[in-house]
Amino acid sequence: MAIDDLALQASQKGIDLIGTGDCLHPSWLKEIKQCSSVDEGTWQCKDTFFILSTEIEGKKRVHHLLYFPSLSAVETFRNQVESKSKNLNTSGRPNINMTGEELAGLAEDIGALIGPAHTFTPWTSLYAHYDSLEECYGSLTDYVSFAELGLSANSDYADMIEELHRLTFLTNSDSHSPHPVRLAREFTRFEVHDITFEEIKHALLRINGNRSVLNVGLPPEEGKYNESACGKCYTHYSYEEAEQRGWICDCGKPIKKGVKDRIAEMAIFQQPQHPSHRPPYLQLIPLAEIITKAVGQRNPFTKTVTKRWNELVSTFGSEINVLLDVSINDIAAVTTPAITEAIQAFRENRVIIYPGGGGRYGTIEFPQEKDALKVTLG
Ligand SMILES: [Zn+2]
Ligand SMILES: [Zn+2]
Repeated sequence: MAIDDLALQASQKGIDLIGTGDCLHPSWLKEIKQCSSVDEGTWQCKDTFFILSTEIEGKKRVHHLLYFPSLSAVETFRNQVESKSKNLNTSGRPNINMTGEELAGLAEDIGALIGPAHTFTPWTSLYAHYDSLEECYGSLTDYVSFAELGLSANSDYADMIEELHRLTFLTNSDSHSPHPVRLAREFTRFEVHDITFEEIKHALLRINGNRSVLNVGLPPEEGKYNESACGKCYTHYSYEEAEQRGWICDCGKPIKKGVKDRIAEMAIFQQPQHPSHRPPYLQLIPLAEIITKAVGQRNPFTKTVTKRWNELVSTFGSEINVLLDVSINDIAAVTTPAITEAIQAFRENRVIIYPGGGGRYGTIEFPQEKDALKVTLG
């Protein structure tokens, strides 16, 4: 992945701003500096804006997400954590031997934003190891302004937990390829006056009229850790079954607690109680996945899928337009009846989802193709 490719693919997808990811990594930081002449937290390449971001693994293997106000703030942060990390120069998501509170303290000093990444996942998240934000961030809990939900949760799940109500939810997804089926599987829509770090910060803090207005993500059932399941043979278990067996599968390996069950454990409410600032959550399935199913292919990287994807996106400007905004009649005029029907089934919420768990993604099936091959998402 290079900044140029990401910029091009993001605009085809319909995304204005993406996180650089991995901005503490020296080689990636060098690439970032080559295309950013200003010492600010955001800059533009082609039609796409970038914001300086990274994930880090702190003590207890908790993953945190950071957004930096400037390149110099990234350098300062790097210098401060250098002695606490063995892989700062080799890993995109470095391990830094500091608590959430210590990391939030450093973030506050340089005006960076910090919050938990994929907050509920069973291996490396805040709620995998703690029962509250405060156990992790201590005296700096109030400095945390957002929680990233992760692919296996949505705002209905997260708003079962009262302490999360004051936070802005980020529905972001990481990407290991600029391919449209990978990039921006999830995204957040903000109301801002301009695309700058300060404006995004104000949106997270909900000041000056800035705010998030829409969370968009995969249906949580498609995430890798939605239900409790064995991490080796992927047999799914209900919470009660898993408890009875002491969280050990028939095959002898541990059952990983699903996000759904972890949230139910901590939930105070029986039903999600959304605070008044919470925006709607829209479930999105990548267009290439929908096309893959509709044309009966095995994976979304084939020539046929790419051709059909390009046809639609070049006609209507972006993937998001095709999925959400363009009329079905207009879509029918450009593509095949099977693809049109699949997009319509998606819009009408008729897609059948088999939940993921234990580290394996969920699968989808369209009603008109019940016998068709299932496709693994991700
Ligand atoms: Zn992570
Ligand atoms: Zn097993």
